[in-house]
Amino acid sequence: MVDGTPLKTALDEGRYQPPSLWSVVQVVRIIAELLPLKVGLSHENLPASQLPSGCERCTQKLRAALERFNGTQDAQPLEELSCECQRKNALPIL
Ligand SMILES: [Zn+2]
Repeated sequence: MVDGTPLKTALDEGRYQPPSLWSVVQVVRIIAELLPLKVGLSHENLPASQLPSGCERCTQKLRAALERFNGTQDAQPLEELSCECQRKNALPIL
């Protein structure tokens, strides 16, 4: 994030945190039923603290699954993902 932007300021002040990758997976599973979708996975050289993530055990697995989804548009493999952190990091409304 660029210093001085409202989002970066909110991050620095603890008013914003990047979404969990589990939240991204949840949203992709819903939207993929409705229309073609591509998940932006560029890290733009941002530090890990500014990127959507899971835990140290699942972050790479989730990123790889979302990358595969971009190529296949098949959300079924996303339903088979799991990790101990999943419930803690999932959106409470979905
Ligand atoms: Zn995890």
